[in-house]
Amino acid sequence: MSVLEQDSVVSVMYTGTFPESGEVFDSNINQPPLVFLVGHGNMIEGFEQEMLGAAVGESRDFTLTPERAYGHRDDANVQAIPRSQIPEGMELEVGAVLGAQSDQGPIQFTIVEVGDEFVTADFNHQMAGQTLHFTVEVVEIREATSDELAHGHAHGPGHQH
Ligand code: ZN
Repeated sequence: MSVLEQDSVVSVMYTGTFPESGEVFDSNINQPPLVFLVGHGNMIEGFEQEMLGAAVGESRDFTLTPERAYGHRDDANVQAIPRSQIPEGMELEVGAVLGAQSDQGPIQFTIVEVGDEFVTADFNHQMAGQTLHFTVEVVEIREATSDELAHGHAHGPGHQH
C-alpha cells in the first residue's frame, strides 16, 4: 500500500492550529505518531478526505470549516441538569470539562453555570463552530489486518487485543 486510502493504517505527525490566531490546539510533535485506520470514523471526515492519496513522506496543509470538522454549535445542546442527577463528588466548576456515559457511549460536556438546583452543561463538541488548520506528514502506511477491519480501529503500541 503506497498511498493513504480506505482501509489503510497510517501513522502521521500533525499540528492543528486555529487559522486566525495561529494558536496550536493539538499536536503530536515530539511524541509518537498518531496511528489510525482510514475510513472507519476514527478521524473527522474532512481530515481523511484531505489526506487521501498522500504518500509516505508527503506533507499536506489544509483548512477545515466547521461543517467539515466538528460541526456548528447548537444551542439545543446546552442543557440544565438537576443537581440530583449529578454524581456526588463531581467537581462543579465553571469551564470544567467532564465526561459521562450516555446511550451513545462516552460524552464530554463543559460546565457553563452552577446554580443551587441546576447545573448548565454544554454538550457541544469543544471544537464545534471552529475552523481548523492542519499540517500533516505521513510517516508510515500499511494495509489493515482483518482484525483491525473487524474492530474498525488500528492496533499497535498501546492497543493490542
Ligand atoms: Zn481492536
